[in-house]
Amino acid sequence: MAGRRILLDCGMMQGRRDLEARNADPFPFEPAALDALVLSHAHIDHVGRVPLLVARGFRGPIWLQRASADLLPVMLEDAASLAESEAERANRHRDPEQPPQLPLFTREDVAQVIPLLRPLDYDVRTTILPGVEITLRDAGHILGSSIVELWGSEGGATRKLVFSGDLGLKGTPILRDPAVVEDADLVLMESTYGDRNHRDRMATVAELGGVFEHAWRERGNVLIPAFAVGRSQELLYSFARHWEEWNLGRWRIFLDSPMAGRVVGIYDRHHELFDEQAQAVWAQRPSPFRLPNLHVTADRQQSMGINAIESGAIIIAGSGMANGGRILHHLRHRLGRRDTHVVFAGYQAEGTLGRRLGRGCAVGADPRPRPSGQCADPHHRRVVCAYRPARPDRVVRPFPRRAAAGAGPWRGPRPRGTGRGDRPALGCPGHLARPDMRCVV
Ligand SMILES: [Zn+2]
Repeated sequence: MAGRRILLDCGMMQGRRDLEARNADPFPFEPAALDALVLSHAHIDHVGRVPLLVARGFRGPIWLQRASADLLPVMLEDAASLAESEAERANRHRDPEQPPQLPLFTREDVAQVIPLLRPLDYDVRTTILPGVEITLRDAGHILGSSIVELWGSEGGATRKLVFSGDLGLKGTPILRDPAVVEDADLVLMESTYGDRNHRDRMATVAELGGVFEHAWRERGNVLIPAFAVGRSQELLYSFARHWEEWNLGRWRIFLDSPMAGRVVGIYDRHHELFDEQAQAVWAQRPSPFRLPNLHVTADRQQSMGINAIESGAIIIAGSGMANGGRILHHLRHRLGRRDTHVVFAGYQAEGTLGRRLGRGCAVGADPRPRPSGQCADPHHRRVVCAYRPARPDRVVRPFPRRAAAGAGPWRGPRPRGTGRGDRPALGCPGHLARPDMRCVV
């Protein structure tokens, strides 16, 4: 644009293992030849390879919304420590003949990114390069998420490019509705949910309240895999709004994600970006992030300590697609119990455990998938998907044969400790049946 090279977002591929392996591939351009990077928001699929870009030679400014600039280090440090521990685990089981596996990037690489950040406020037109101007507009997706308007002037003519980033739904909790952009010469638009009709939000809320009531009557527990940024905060916000109605004071609520805990602090600092309703809720007591029975677990030991709780716990833990993180040990510990309820509160990508669980696939010793609506196990477990799987009709083999393994990253579960770099296996001995599974939204 205007003779300058500007990169829009630099995300990490997530989900299938073959896709994730491509994150280490060379960029299809020379990083050092870029003049600037613009980031739409801080989700890892939009920013996850920024440290790699810098490590490979990019030295230009990184323009992003102010709240995104606060979120970015948290996201990248978490991704770096995940990459470091995955490499460490893989190297423990490495054939000595093979070269050691290196993490995609390290926390030192992340530290190199921070001085390049150039935070912007919404709706302020700023010159970022000679002949190039930018305005960030609220995209209503997560805190700091932006629609990027870019103007390039060359030879007396100005052309405008609009990059939507991920767009929030109107009425997304906490956040303002996406801004309306009136004009553009070229639009680049995300389309994750472009082919789907979302269910009415009120119905979702009612259903969630029903799950809590049902679980309480059974003296059970509720597990919610949730992304540390966005969904975890939305859940806490919903808890505060429906505190009385859902009788949440009787539960012990755990936010079992140190990253989500840090992000809660960043949301708190930027409440000027919230919509009117959320600002009013924030003024109430308890405010969403100060629920009297909310415990934010600091370390792994505290996280494991939750396993001792027999009943009455709502546990929000990452990762949102159950393909890593602390939710795995909670699932492993509790999925075999009839009174465990699992609520999927977000998109479940192909190849993730969340997608397979949401489809009602068995996980454990007997992998035979059960037809929808039937339960082969007397231990009913309830699964509520907050988003409809893209292809709910397709049954996924939970244990892909070797020949089929290329179709997905999940090469297991194998007995623990025998697979190199495999995701941890779940120890549930039964089937995840879905006699009452409903997909909402
Ligand atoms: Zn996003």
